Amino acid sequence: MIDFGFTPLVASITDLDKANVNLAKQLTEQDPSFALCISCGSCSATCTAGQFTKFSFRVMCHQIRKGNAKEAIAEASKCMLCGKCTLACPRNVNTRNIISLVRKAQTTTP
Ligand code: SF4
Ligand code: SF4
Repeated sequence: MIDFGFTPLVASITDLDKANVNLAKQLTEQDPSFALCISCGSCSATCTAGQFTKFSFRVMCHQIRKGNAKEAIAEASKCMLCGKCTLACPRNVNTRNIISLVRKAQTTTP
């Protein structure tokens, strides 16, 4: 095998039949715009917190959809609630509100 000096990403497969996607369902009920995200990354590119931490709204949404609620809730605490991501989103996802809802879910998610 040729050594290119890097390795491809390890495949990440999620069995959605077994994953706990309760938080994703809860968020979609509380703010239907959660379902509109197309993972374009515009929010993450403009994120204030992302300049100082590894926080990414796009990644947080992936974690929620894959059933990694605890990781997502921990990540949400890094957001500064400045609202820039909401202005940048081409799909009108209410990002700031969703982050607030994820933070509140801390007390209700098992
Ligand atoms: S509200 Fe949070 S996620 Fe959105 S740009 Fe500001 S710090 Fe980033
Ligand atoms: S900018 Fe909007 S559509 Fe794009 S990843 Fe962020 S929330 Fe999703």
